[in-house]
Amino acid sequence: MPDGCACDRHAHMYLTVSDALARGLSVADPIKETEAVPLIDAIGRVLAQDCTSKVDMPAFDNSAMDGYAIRTADLGNGPVLALPVAGRIAAGDDGTHSAPAGAALRIFTGAPVPSDFDAVLMQEDCEVTADGIRFTRRPKPGQHIRRSGEDLKAGAPILRQGCEITAREAAVLASAGYGEVTVYRKLKVTIFSTGSELRQPGEELGPGQIYNSNRYMLRALLDKPWIDLTDVGPVEDEPAVLEQVLRETCESADLIITTGGVSVGDEDHMPRLFAEIGGQTDVMKVAMKPGKPIMFGRRGDALYVGLPGNPVSAYVTWQIIGSHMMARRAGLHHVPQTPENAVLAEPLERRAGRQEYRPVVIEGVMPDGTPRLRLMASSYSGRVALLAQADGLAVIPAETETLAMGQVLPFLRF
Ligand code: AMP
Ligand code: MG
Repeated sequence: MPDGCACDRHAHMYLTVSDALARGLSVADPIKETEAVPLIDAIGRVLAQDCTSKVDMPAFDNSAMDGYAIRTADLGNGPVLALPVAGRIAAGDDGTHSAPAGAALRIFTGAPVPSDFDAVLMQEDCEVTADGIRFTRRPKPGQHIRRSGEDLKAGAPILRQGCEITAREAAVLASAGYGEVTVYRKLKVTIFSTGSELRQPGEELGPGQIYNSNRYMLRALLDKPWIDLTDVGPVEDEPAVLEQVLRETCESADLIITTGGVSVGDEDHMPRLFAEIGGQTDVMKVAMKPGKPIMFGRRGDALYVGLPGNPVSAYVTWQIIGSHMMARRAGLHHVPQTPENAVLAEPLERRAGRQEYRPVVIEGVMPDGTPRLRLMASSYSGRVALLAQADGLAVIPAETETLAMGQVLPFLRF
């Protein structure tokens, strides 16, 4: 392949997306250091221990309903059953209540069921009388009682290391008695945007200048409790400056993400500079559209991901490859992307060679609920406004040249 060739004819000489992702995952070693933190501070972090329940769930027999606890042995044979009510148990009571033989106890959801009671009647099934309750539906022994340990016994596994502690994980850790959990230390991520043309939004644009959108895009993508972010901001296309920033960040970060400067132009300095500071490049070109120029490599403990400068390319390469590498580096288990099926609302013609992630809008749904996709412009790598309007990305296999209207294809919803 001629060095610097950017045409699709040579795409077969690039790595496929799946090979690039596999290579990326293989070089993204999970950080090893962990820390114990209070559960409240572990929310959003990456769990670093396998967890088993510290308690039986539930911890004691308790009522699943608001109603009346009874002993089924007390019931007579008649079609209408009646019992006096001898006391009251609410959630938080200790459950040592007793009642004379033949009496019921008023009970509420979550309240402990005393050991000699074996059923709970729903209050909806009971008529309250001057003497107690009357009911006609004969209860089965055990009904509406949640038994101690029936969900989970103490010692049973609840979570594996490598998950993100989101709402569901936080809830089960709390109910299993974890006041403190061991999480991976935060991943130190450093970002900078290369490009002498970049200005901050809010500033005046001079001739040839553009607003730096990649910085804000990355800030949004990296706004996670398990990331300790350093944002260097924009760096001009000055080799000496770029080299110094790259060298310094490689000393201090677990992961460095840059945008721009990874293509084949004279001002695309990153591949050469990364090699010059002793970086080992693992991947340089991937047969994907948008985003053929994406590089990643390692230097010491630092992982480097160089995203393309075009904002849509940067976004897509990050979502498809970079984000998975980062997740693995942070200790998260790899969760493969699972596209849904969608139907093309129009025919498509394109040049084969690269696996394409085409921005699409959902135009409607088929009778079975499958989304119907309208393709956005075929030339879009720099069109960030279009990205904001899209509902997701249609995945077009590398070898595909034409797709008929109505064709089913994979769709990654945003
Ligand atoms: P590069 O990969 O550096 O050649 O950049 C490709 C295109 O993306 C050029 O038109 C750049 O001006 C543009 N670009 C690079 N970095 C950014 C950025 N941070 N925000 C918006 N556009 C950018
Ligand atoms: Mg540039």
